[in-house]
Amino acid sequence: MRICLTGGAGYIGSHILVGLLEDGHDVLVVDNFANSSPTCLQHIRQLTGKSFEFLEEDICNQPAISAAFSTFRPDIVIHCAGLKAVGESQKQPLRYYRTNVEGSINLLEAMDQAGCQRIIFSSSATVYGTPRYLPYDEAHPVAPANVYGRTKAMIEDIITDWVATDPGRSAALLRYFNPVGAHESGEIGEDPKGIPNNLVPYIADVATGMRAELSVFGNDYETRDGTGVRDYIHITDLADGHIAAMAYLGDHQGVEVFNLGTGEGSSVLEVVAAFRRASNQPVPYEIKPRRDGDIAEFFANPAKANDRLGWQATRTLDAMCADVWRWRSKYPRGFDV
Ligand code: NAD
Ligand code: UDP
Repeated sequence: MRICLTGGAGYIGSHILVGLLEDGHDVLVVDNFANSSPTCLQHIRQLTGKSFEFLEEDICNQPAISAAFSTFRPDIVIHCAGLKAVGESQKQPLRYYRTNVEGSINLLEAMDQAGCQRIIFSSSATVYGTPRYLPYDEAHPVAPANVYGRTKAMIEDIITDWVATDPGRSAALLRYFNPVGAHESGEIGEDPKGIPNNLVPYIADVATGMRAELSVFGNDYETRDGTGVRDYIHITDLADGHIAAMAYLGDHQGVEVFNLGTGEGSSVLEVVAAFRRASNQPVPYEIKPRRDGDIAEFFANPAKANDRLGWQATRTLDAMCADVWRWRSKYPRGFDV
């Protein structure tokens, strides 16, 4: 198939790209490196021995995206490009709405012009907001509590309305839980710029000695050890979920929402323990106050994706940590050493 992958140089997109190339697809990657590095794409070329097309462009540049689509003529778009930092989204809402929402509208317009009728969208469990019940299933109310989550919910609505106007169209809205881990080769992985916001990259910085200790944000939650609980999913399982969604869209019309998670929650201290086991390094930490806006715990009910996509996350937390450690041992400072 001919696939346009936006955000293909980023953390999630790069792992999807490897899967697509291994399956022999023709891929056009669109990325402006707002939060990634060209070196990632070099690693992927070396790792897979495959080539792909690349357009360095902002998805907000509608004429450029339309021109690229009219030449490449994708059968499907996998749309991962976007801004994703919750705290930043609260401070720069218009930038987030422009990149995420306007960028997505541009893509849909370019798809229309090129006759492309299928899209897979990177959504997030953040759209659910404060849990009314757990595990979250896809019927849980959508009530995002921050700007980032609202951009995701808006794009879901826009794609749903777009699909509704033509019976030939189809879309999979994939709500990711907490992707962690790296490719098992250690050649690609998460490479956040600056101080990591997320738990696992921060722990990895501590284990490599780049940072002195982890701050554990609260140990007085109503969870089994008092620390926050999340549904961590291996990045390769997440990437495989996109391949499964692509196959699903091949013979289904309309829009479907799928949770991509494991269904299991792990606490901050359980992740620290797993990382210590994987790396054989100390991971010192200090208990600090709760982080503003944090939810005590959430995890997925992935039954719909298991049943309808024939997909299941199989990799353990230990495997996630071992793969992060391999990536960070090879490339302690990420792609741009
Ligand atoms: P990432 O920042 O590593 O990747 C996003 C990619 O999009 C980057 O390569 C970046 O350069 C590119 N990009 C950003 N703005 C762009 C623009 N205007 N034009 C072209 N390219 C642009 O993030 P990620 O973790 O790989 O996330 C991918 C998608 O998945 C995002 O849409 C994110 O919101 C969503 N998501 C991520 C998580 C997570 O925890 N990582 C969870 C749920 C959903
Ligand atoms: N966390 C932490 N220290 C950190 C980063 C995160 O204790 O430096 C906790 C956070 O409070 C939450 C869990 O780890 O309970 C996962 O946080 P992350 O930011 O990775 O994911 P999100 O909260 O966005 O689901």
